[in-house]
This record gives sequence, structure tokens and C-alpha cells, in this order.
Amino acid sequence: MISARENLLNITNKLLTAGLNHGASGNCSCRDKESFLITPTGIDSSKLTTDMMVRVSLSDNASQPESKFQPSSEWQFHQAILKKYPEINAVVHTHSVFASSLSVLGQDIPAFHYMIAVAGGDSVRCAPYAMFGTKELSDNILEAIRDRKACLLSNHGLVAVGKDLNEAFNIAEEVEHLSRLFIEAKKIGEPLLLSDKQMTEVLNRFNSYGRWAKD
Ligand SMILES: [Zn+2]
Repeated sequence: MISARENLLNITNKLLTAGLNHGASGNCSCRDKESFLITPTGIDSSKLTTDMMVRVSLSDNASQPESKFQPSSEWQFHQAILKKYPEINAVVHTHSVFASSLSVLGQDIPAFHYMIAVAGGDSVRCAPYAMFGTKELSDNILEAIRDRKACLLSNHGLVAVGKDLNEAFNIAEEVEHLSRLFIEAKKIGEPLLLSDKQMTEVLNRFNSYGRWAKD
């Protein structure tokens, strides 16, 4: 059976191949027993190996001493998401071109295409800007992914979550594609938006749809 470390490395490679990450930007994590594993800080994605993945506790702020690598400088919001939402086991974060381009507008992506439902609702929210690594950013992301599986981070990038790394990757890839479509459409006109009723119909057809947040 594939280990969590191997799984994390595979997804990191898929993010590179799909063009969602470049250099050392972006990071991903997955729950593993009572803690989680996350990609290290400052290492080019193409140079990563399984032993570089850093184990971080869900109950305190210190990385486990077993690793000589430091966790991603953005580990705080990974921890915050995995602590708050027990249904979520994986987090993918990218600075991908199209989602990041939309994020600098600081606006939610509206229901301009029915596939917006892959993110769990009738929009992809944009979390207000806060400095990376801060509790304020974690809090903003927790609010933006409430009942959702993805959000934009204003002036920053994209976060996607899932029951496993494959789902989080697929959602990140789809939101990046939707971001590209939205930007292209805006070049030639004002996109028509689907109504609440139309989006409710779509959401009801999506098996993966569900309210994740308990509050
Ligand atoms: Zn980032």
C-alpha cells in the first residue's frame, strides 16, 4: 500500500506536471494518524523526496523533531483546516496563474459555469488578504471554505481540500481551469450567471456535494 509520504510526493509531482506549481511555491498536506504530513519549506518541488515531508502535530505548534526539514511556511492554515474539519484529510495550495490572477481582484468567482459546483457551492469565495503564516489568514480561509472545497486567497493563490489528496488535486485543477475560462470570457463580454435554482439543481446532482462545516 502506498504510504502517505509517497502519496504526498506523487501529488506534488502532479501539481508540477499540470503546471499548477512552479519552483518552491505551493504546498500540500495530508492527515496521517493523529498528525499530518506537509511539504517542506524552501525546497524546489522537483527536488523533493519522501523523507523530506515534515510531520506536524495537530495539537501544538511545533513540528516533530524526527525531520531535519522545516515545514512549509504556510503550515498554519493546513493545520487549522485539518483541525476544524475532520472530514477533510488533504489540503492543496497553489499559486497557479489563473486562480492567482483572479485572486488579485479580491472577488469571489460567481456561478458563471455549472462546474463551479465542484467546489461545493454556487461560488468560489475569495478569502480576504492577510500575511502568509498568520492566524488571520488561517481564520479567513476557514471562513471562505465553509461549506466549500476550495477558495481563492486574495493577492495570493488557491486552496483546495478533499477527503484525500487526489480529490484535493482534482478540485485545484478544476478551479484553475474555471478561473481561466472566467478570465477568457470576461475579455469578450459579461458572463451570464446561473440562477440559484439552476445551481441548486446542479449541486443536487453532484454526489460529492455536502455541507462539511458543522456550524
Ligand atoms: Zn502561498
